[in-house]
Amino acid sequence: MRVKITLACQECKQRNYNMTKEKKNHPDRLETKKYCKFCKAHTLHKETK
Ligand SMILES: [Zn+2]
Repeated sequence: MRVKITLACQECKQRNYNMTKEKKNHPDRLETKKYCKFCKAHTLHKETK
């Protein structure tokens, strides 16, 4: 079962990415390093609702 999630930069709180995840593979809140164009750097992004 794939669900839509939004990834938000933890530095500036901007929501930069929309993606889907496999819920059974990632039951917890996803955390990943991605490029933030507002911070102009790779920052930690977390799943938000
Ligand atoms: Zn940012």
